[in-house]
Amino acid sequence: MCNQLEPNKLLAAAKGKCPQCQSGKMFKYSVIKLNKFTEMFVTCPFCGLRFELEPGYFWGAMYVSYAITTGIMLVVGALVYILFGAKAGFWGFIIPIFTVMFLSMPFTYRYARVFYLHFFSPIRFNKELANKK
Ligand SMILES: [Zn+2]
Repeated sequence: MCNQLEPNKLLAAAKGKCPQCQSGKMFKYSVIKLNKFTEMFVTCPFCGLRFELEPGYFWGAMYVSYAITTGIMLVVGALVYILFGAKAGFWGFIIPIFTVMFLSMPFTYRYARVFYLHFFSPIRFNKELANKK
């Protein structure tokens, strides 16, 4: 387990680190471990912050997930249009869009929670907690 301090908030979010200390990981396993990619630590292993701020806190991450998924669908749809034009047809758009959406699901799930906790919560970076070890 890596407890290295990330120098900025965006990099800490990209690596799935705790928003308060930017050192402890939020998720127990790698994203490629498909049977366990959803498992989070209850508290930060470095600073002890409880990630679920209140019961059902991560329901709000669904809105972030919706935004990420919509962005992915638009980008893939635009790429199909640029590569093949309108002659790709209905299924020519639907199949690549849903394939990429399905394959990106573990990332979308994680980053929705990470971004929700980093950018839509009252938790702020605490330098004293980051340097406690
Ligand atoms: Zn922490």
